[in-house]
Amino acid sequence: MTVLIVEDDDRLMDALRAFLRKAGYDTVSAADGAQALEALSSDTEVVLLDLGLPDVDGIELCRRIRERSGVPIIIATARSHVQERIRGLRAGADDFLVKPYNVLELVARIEAVTRRSRALVAEPTAEQVIDVADVRIDLSGRQLLVGGDSIELTRTEFDIVAVLARYPGVVVPRERIIREVWQTDWHAFSRSLEVHVGSIRRKTGRGELIETVRGVGYRFAGR
Ligand code: CA
Repeated sequence: MTVLIVEDDDRLMDALRAFLRKAGYDTVSAADGAQALEALSSDTEVVLLDLGLPDVDGIELCRRIRERSGVPIIIATARSHVQERIRGLRAGADDFLVKPYNVLELVARIEAVTRRSRALVAEPTAEQVIDVADVRIDLSGRQLLVGGDSIELTRTEFDIVAVLARYPGVVVPRERIIREVWQTDWHAFSRSLEVHVGSIRRKTGRGELIETVRGVGYRFAGR
């Protein structure tokens, strides 16, 4: 497992690297935003991102990493920077640590975010039209057909279907759906998500199309 550590404090960087290596992780170091973007690759499995960087706003960097990759991001902020933490989560971070943090807590967070993202190791399908039995989802045309009939979905309902349909047969965690559809990590949307899924099932008359995986999220019927 490769952790990209973005940290401008040399001493902290050395300590983190030594600790994570001892804990069995591979590490890649970046001392600023430019280095971080350069070091980000398909091998990166977790990003540990200090928000206080010399060359770029950490939140902006978080957003840029998220634009390029679905890699789990853990942000680190000072205790007093509650607003920054919230902004970081909104910018696509998966979790946060408050500095100074315990390295064992760091490992626990890494394990938690990678466990969550592992459900999505599967690559999203590149297909724009997805057929499951008599249901057809046209992602680019934003249309859902059941037995050839077009079903009227609201924008949000279609967004939810689209997120799920891109991963046929894979459990997509609730947090992930909420982040993609509402662009927030606010868990209060969980209830709203349930209501929308209920509405999609009713409108399509195909309850089995979206399976609820209790405590985790939803799974779109595989083919
Ligand atoms: Ca810093």
